[in-house]
Amino acid sequence: MSQRAWVTLNSAALRHNLAMVRHYAPQAKVMAAIKADGYGHGLLLAARALQTADAFAIATIGEAERLRQGGVTQPLILLEGVHDAAAAAALLPLQVTPVLHSTYQLALLQRLLAENPRETIPLWLKLDSGMHRLGFRPEVLAAVIAAVQAEPRLQLQGVMSHFACADDPQARMTEDQIVCYERSLLPYQETPLQQSLANSAAILTRPATHRDWVRPGIMLYGCSPLLNGVGSDFNLQPVMRFYARLIAVRQLLQGETIGYGATWQAPDAMAVGVVSVGYGDGYPRHAAAGTPVALKTGEAPLIGRVSMDMITIDLRQHPDACVGDVVELWGDTIAVERVAAAASTISYELLCGIGNRVQRISGNEEQRTWSP
Ligand SMILES: *Cc1c(COP(=O)(O)O)cnc(C)c1O
Repeated sequence: MSQRAWVTLNSAALRHNLAMVRHYAPQAKVMAAIKADGYGHGLLLAARALQTADAFAIATIGEAERLRQGGVTQPLILLEGVHDAAAAAALLPLQVTPVLHSTYQLALLQRLLAENPRETIPLWLKLDSGMHRLGFRPEVLAAVIAAVQAEPRLQLQGVMSHFACADDPQARMTEDQIVCYERSLLPYQETPLQQSLANSAAILTRPATHRDWVRPGIMLYGCSPLLNGVGSDFNLQPVMRFYARLIAVRQLLQGETIGYGATWQAPDAMAVGVVSVGYGDGYPRHAAAGTPVALKTGEAPLIGRVSMDMITIDLRQHPDACVGDVVELWGDTIAVERVAAAASTISYELLCGIGNRVQRISGNEEQRTWSP
């Protein structure tokens, strides 16, 4: 059966992008972010393709369960740590390393240790160096470290922090956060505490932040983490390609409108195409008229509003377009960053939002069995 909308997921590109992380940050260990179902690519697909990463960063205990059930043995770092006793209890059997950002989490870990007298728990601390989302403030860091070190069965591995504005290489705030982080860790220079600051944007633009561990996410999936630009700027390869088909080719008369809200009006008599994808599949509803798609004969602009199951495109430059033709929504020709910009969002959101009814085809670049 021919598919109406599908994504292909290229494991070879994931491996290539991990090699680029190693290229940009050759001294650092890599904690690969595969949270949110591997940024929408599939949790196990990402973990398996990235199996040479030194650790994986995840967001939920459920992700840890799926990874361990899938045979993944790497260290798993739970970025937001545990929020209740049930989550804490799962740490030991799943061998998960929590991040500690609040004192209530320390109490959860202490209780867990009391209930498991022979166990030890590795953990990271989160320092709030200025983003003010999660983490201990610099003023209390020393007291928290002392409290953790007072319990010998808590193995403090390192201190991490996260940047608010690293996607803008010009942002002053990143400098301020680095200074704050360094000042906070000054007393611990002689200790084996490991350091971790850099997300993808900092990996690519701020070598001084690489330290012991880098935490790439979006660049592994082939996207630029910067405000403007695309992954190929950094020799990254797209992992996900999103396709649908032309299901109708229509002729509009001059002045006729198309789609909901009648927002777009034909300037001339013209051919338009209807494509079998919509916001029900994860194509962004806010994609503006002019957002590019690609046919085999080149790019074509979106016209009118995105519907649940369909979009409409301008076929004036594509007189040979036929029903059944494949349309690339993002991938090699149309970088997902361009679609994101046209929809006033970021690539992360689009990659995470592919709908359940979209068929997923995984493979390697070498094997060309992509089409459904
Ligand atoms: C998701 C996440 C990352 C990865 O960020 P990218 O911008 O995708 O590279 C790194 N660190 C933390 C704490 C995260 O939550």
